[in-house]
Amino acid sequence: MEIVLTKNQKKVLVNHAQSNFPNESCALLFGIGDSKTCTVKDIFLAENMEKSPINFTISNEELLKGYKEAEQKKLDVIGIFHSHPHSEAVPSLTDKEFMVGNPVVWMIFSNKRDEFKAYILESSLVQVSIKII
Ligand SMILES: [Zn+2]
Repeated sequence: MEIVLTKNQKKVLVNHAQSNFPNESCALLFGIGDSKTCTVKDIFLAENMEKSPINFTISNEELLKGYKEAEQKKLDVIGIFHSHPHSEAVPSLTDKEFMVGNPVVWMIFSNKRDEFKAYILESSLVQVSIKII
């Protein structure tokens, strides 16, 4: 499986992660996709309610707003982005628990390594390749 995003979208996510440092940042990724390829069309920057360096939570109000906005734009929420300011771009145990309830692509940016990785939870954790166009 592959997720496709533009250089500019990548820049928006990196900027979001850097401006929230030392805390985690989060966003919803809107786009279109099937079981093979997801293409990011728009990014909904969200606030990390927890203001924590090791966790993130998007408020229900903001999630509702995000899903509504995606619907208006005739897009799906194809992914959830968050950053790991101080660790690798690998899902934490908490992330994995939330991935069960949110079976979309999870994209993680590591400020520490300056790298993106993406995953989806199927029967096990599967890495999703990232294509920058
Ligand atoms: Zn995480």
